[in-house]
Amino acid sequence: MTMAKPAVVMNGVNKWYGAHQVLYDINLEIAEGERVAVCGPSGSGKSTMIRTINQLEPHQSGHILVDGKEVVPGMKRIDLIRSDVGMVFQHFNLFPHLSVLENLTIAPRTVRGMSKRAAEEQAMTLLERVRIPEQAHKYPGQLSGGQQQRVAIARSLCMSPRIMLFDEPTSALDPEMVREVLDVMVQLAREHMTMVVVTHEMDFAREVADRIVFMDAGRIVEINPPEKFFTDPDSQRTRDFLRRIR
Ligand code: ADP
Ligand code: MG
Repeated sequence: MTMAKPAVVMNGVNKWYGAHQVLYDINLEIAEGERVAVCGPSGSGKSTMIRTINQLEPHQSGHILVDGKEVVPGMKRIDLIRSDVGMVFQHFNLFPHLSVLENLTIAPRTVRGMSKRAAEEQAMTLLERVRIPEQAHKYPGQLSGGQQQRVAIARSLCMSPRIMLFDEPTSALDPEMVREVLDVMVQLAREHMTMVVVTHEMDFAREVADRIVFMDAGRIVEINPPEKFFTDPDSQRTRDFLRRIR
């Protein structure tokens, strides 16, 4: 694993919101094909950290490399990085006025210049992969939360990303819909997608993650494989966190 070319490198990354520092000296290397789960208390900087990878949030110091290319705040071709790095949010963020099919074809057509027919073919293949091809002509508001999140995953995959970031993709879902979304993510993991997943689903993290990153108060406190993380964590703060969420 450590021999593979890194998909993401974060080196000494710091971030402030105004005068308030929210990330402190973040060092993290993610190998190609690796699955990393990020957990930690609310407000610990998990979302901010993964959002710096595709520069939805700029960092103020340190270095971030995606597929070997440095990501610089304000860079002109951030679109090139973003098309390599798919992102799935807690609240789906689908375009409500577009059908499912249009949600999946708009970026490939406008950004990649794909023909309507090719984009629709690709979209249908991906909707089959997330197991909702029959919803193609509905609007997001007509779908359940679990279905909408699966559309959001398919929409990201339409751009053929090399890395997928997930920010608590199941936190906004009714409990009975969590599994259908996790199943799609497990399948992606089996296909060796490089994945960074912020999640409170510890069973999923244990099942899928190669390593678990634990954050607290803007710092990475611990990085360990699940076996070690759950049974014999290095840090007392991890132990306290695991006790609280169980
Ligand atoms: P987590 O995802 O672990 O809950 P966040 O990355 O959302 O944590 O937040 C980390 C810290 O940054 C928190 O103190 C939060 O209040 C603050 N924060 C997050 N987003 C903003 C923002 N847009 N402006 C100012 N402060 C923010
Ligand atoms: Mg968050």
